[in-house]
Amino acid sequence: MRKLLSLAIILSTTFTFAQTDQRVYDIINAVSAERIQKDVTTLVNFGTRHTLSDTISKTKGIGAARRWIKSEFEKISTTCGDCLEVTYHRDLVKKGENARIVKDVEVVNVVAIQRGTKYPDRYIIMSGDIDSRVSDPTNFTSESPGANDNASGMAGTIEAARVLSKYKFESSIIYLGLSGEEQGLFGGQGLVKSAKEKGWDIIGIFNNDMIGNIKGVDGIISNTDFRIFSEPVPPTETERERNMRRFYGGEVDGISRQLARYVHKNVKTYMPEMNPMMIYRLDRFGRGGHHRPFNDAGYAGIRIMEAHENYTQQHQDIRVEDGIAYGDVLEHVNFDYARKLTAVNAINMASLAWAPPAPKEVKIGGIVEPSSKFEWSKVEGAVGYKIYWRDTTSPTWDHSRYVGDVTEFTLNGIVIDNYFFGISAVGKDGFESVVVFPNAIMRN
Ligand SMILES: [Zn+2]
Repeated sequence: MRKLLSLAIILSTTFTFAQTDQRVYDIINAVSAERIQKDVTTLVNFGTRHTLSDTISKTKGIGAARRWIKSEFEKISTTCGDCLEVTYHRDLVKKGENARIVKDVEVVNVVAIQRGTKYPDRYIIMSGDIDSRVSDPTNFTSESPGANDNASGMAGTIEAARVLSKYKFESSIIYLGLSGEEQGLFGGQGLVKSAKEKGWDIIGIFNNDMIGNIKGVDGIISNTDFRIFSEPVPPTETERERNMRRFYGGEVDGISRQLARYVHKNVKTYMPEMNPMMIYRLDRFGRGGHHRPFNDAGYAGIRIMEAHENYTQQHQDIRVEDGIAYGDVLEHVNFDYARKLTAVNAINMASLAWAPPAPKEVKIGGIVEPSSKFEWSKVEGAVGYKIYWRDTTSPTWDHSRYVGDVTEFTLNGIVIDNYFFGISAVGKDGFESVVVFPNAIMRN
């Protein structure tokens, strides 16, 4: 009996951080396909949400759409003791800024902040887009349902707010409706500018752009595949950092890539029925999305979206041509799939907002030695740290070791040359920060 007991104690301490958290499953179960369907339908019924469309009407155009989105966040807030700070963020974009801005326009985002209890100025962001378009990007009057592109992402963001507002988090979560995407990423650019001015500490942004189509133009149908796009390294890196990469590695280990790996791992753990595909690109080939302004400013950001796009249902005038029904209409959205991708966002925002910040400095050493050595800066609020490593050709952090509440550690027998390494901070409930790739070198 005593033997059994001590075994149980050993097991419970050993597996403290290998366990899953029931709250994460509760969050997955709380996301509703019906509510997403209702919200996508509401957004579609505004006729067009083109950035340059009507702002006066109560029922049509982007003005009515953004007022509805704001009121929806406010409604959610009343059910959680005013837990959301809901505001507009406005930027005037002048006619001729690019060819798609054919008149002066106020680009208006809707921002809902769920303030963190411990790190109120640290943010994880989920975004969708308010605006839509048809074949001609300057046509702001034609019927433009934008059901999948991107009412799906917007509805998912609202639904995530409904679900996560039932919980308290240490870091802040922002639910963000962006405008001006189709005209040239204006909403994101404006928001990033003000975030920089305010000195926001942004963990990262999950840009959701088209999360509802399961039937590819190539005929492939899958309601479990989805893509996580991430750029390799930030465009803001310095010449010195670029040079360091030649000697110490990091070509595929920028901050956005670590965020992508975080999502990938969490989905594999909590939603094993899904097939997350990490794509080692900023975005689709030659195409854009609203995470890019964040990446441009040096913030981590990824794009989460369907795996199999249908181009006859994006940016199209509604019409039938050669027997093909063009248009981004409601009928093509799979709401249960949008529910799943919304859950992907929600569990990752929850995990990050429950986790302590990542260590700022991570030093690595072990040149010409049979072991790898690490030193890192202490994180207030962390109960311990995890060292990760992987083969240099592997996309995922395949090996890890929890090392407890220390700020240095040596992995004996693990030769520095043969792996890539990183370190995360672990909180009291086992939630982890994003992995930090070493950013300093220890010489012997
Ligand atoms: Zn689009």
